[in-house]
Amino acid sequence: MAQLPTTLIHHPYAPPQGFEAPQPGVFKASTVFFPTVAAMRQRDWKNRSAYTYGLHGTPTTYVLEQRLCTLEGGLHCLLLPSGLAALALVALSLLKAGDEVLLPDNAYGNNKPLFDAEFTHWGITYQIYDPMDVADLQARISERTRLVWLEAAGSVTLEFPDLPAMVRLCKARGVLTALDNTWGAGLAFAPFDLLPTQEPGLGVDISAHALTKYPSGGGDVLMGSVITRSPNLHQQLQATHMRLGFNVAANDAEAVLRALPSMALRYAAHDAAARTLAQWCTQQPQFVQVLHPALPTSPGHAHWRVVCQSAAVGGQADGANSDANGGAGRAAGLFSVVIAPEYSQRQVDAFCESLQLFRIGWSWGGPVSLVVPYKLASMRTRWPAHISRGTVVRFAIGLESVADLQADLAQALRTLQ
Ligand SMILES: *Cc1c(COP(=O)(O)O)cnc(C)c1O
Repeated sequence: MAQLPTTLIHHPYAPPQGFEAPQPGVFKASTVFFPTVAAMRQRDWKNRSAYTYGLHGTPTTYVLEQRLCTLEGGLHCLLLPSGLAALALVALSLLKAGDEVLLPDNAYGNNKPLFDAEFTHWGITYQIYDPMDVADLQARISERTRLVWLEAAGSVTLEFPDLPAMVRLCKARGVLTALDNTWGAGLAFAPFDLLPTQEPGLGVDISAHALTKYPSGGGDVLMGSVITRSPNLHQQLQATHMRLGFNVAANDAEAVLRALPSMALRYAAHDAAARTLAQWCTQQPQFVQVLHPALPTSPGHAHWRVVCQSAAVGGQADGANSDANGGAGRAAGLFSVVIAPEYSQRQVDAFCESLQLFRIGWSWGGPVSLVVPYKLASMRTRWPAHISRGTVVRFAIGLESVADLQADLAQALRTLQ
C-alpha cells in the first residue's frame, strides 16, 4: 500500500461528470433540494451517502472528513469550528452529571477551564493526574471515572507520557480514552494503532485534533476534528454534534483540503528545523533546560522513542533526522527552553520582544515562527519535578531558513548577557 503522503494526494473523490482535477470542488449550501417529498422523508442525515442540509455535510466536508480519517487511521470523523470546540464536543456528548474526567497536568491550557468553569455547573467533576506517572493515573481512576484525556507530547513542556501503558490501563478499567492529537497530527504516530508490530490495534477511543495547526498550515483557519473507529461512539458524538449545530464553512474546509497534500512535507521540515535549533539551544548557558521529546534529556524521551519510532505512519524525510538528532522517529516543530532563574520576567519578556523573525503569538503550525513566555507555576498543580526552575519559553518553529532562525535567537540571547 502507498504511504501516507501519497494516499493523501491520490485520495479518491467523486468529481462532477467529465471534470477531474487535483482539488475537489467547494460546495456551499444551507438548503439541499429533494426531488420529492418522499425522498425528503426517506433521507437520513446520519448517512454520509446522501445530503439533507448544509449543516449536516456537503460533498466538500465529506471529502475532508474522509481524508482526515486516512490521516489518523480512523473510520468516522466530525468537523468543528475550532480545536477547542472539538475538545468540548467530546465532553458534552459523553459525560453526564456524576461522571468524573481525568486530565493530565500538562493538558492544553483551555481544556482545564472547560471543566473548571463550565462542566462543574452540571455536576461533572475532574481531577488532574501526573502525565509522567502511570501509577498516579491508576490511583485516580474510580467507578465514577468515565473519560481520561491524554496528550502526547504535553502542551508547553512537551513531556511524552507512556501512552501504551495508559491506554492499556484505561481499557482494563473500562474507561474511555480521548487523545488531543494536535502535536502528533497523524504523522508522528498512529493514535488508533500505537504499537503496530508489538501490539496491533492498541489505541485510543477518540482522537481530537486542532486542524488549526498543521492540517491548515497557514495560521489563517480555525477548525477541529473528532475521529473514532467505533460506530457506537461516533453515533453518540454525531448526535450531539448535530443537536448543537456544529459544522464548518465550505471555504475553510477547502483551505484545509488544499493544505493536506503538503502536510507531511511541512511536518518533516518543521520537525528537522526544530531539532536543529533545540540542539543548538542546549549549548546556550542562559537556557538551563531544553524540552523536546527527541532530546535524550527531555522528560519522556524513552516513551517518545517507543511510540514515534515504531509508528506505522508512512512518509518520506525520516532521513532528515539522524540518530544525532534524537533518532528517526517524528516530532512536531515545537520546543521549549527554561531560562535560568536569575533572569527576571522583565528580562525574559525583553528577550522575546527582541526576536525579529519569531513573532509573539499563540498557536502554531503556520509558516511563521512564534514565541510565547509562560508562567508555568500558575498552569500546574505543582512545579513538575522533571522541569528545572526558571522561566519557560516556547518556540513554534515555522518554515523560515534554520540559519536565519538560529541567528535571530543568537542576537536576542545577547539581551540576556
Ligand atoms: C491549539 C490547540 C487546541 C485548540 O485549537 P483551536 O483551534 O485554537 O481552538 C487544542 N489542543 C492543542 C494541543 C492545541 O495546540
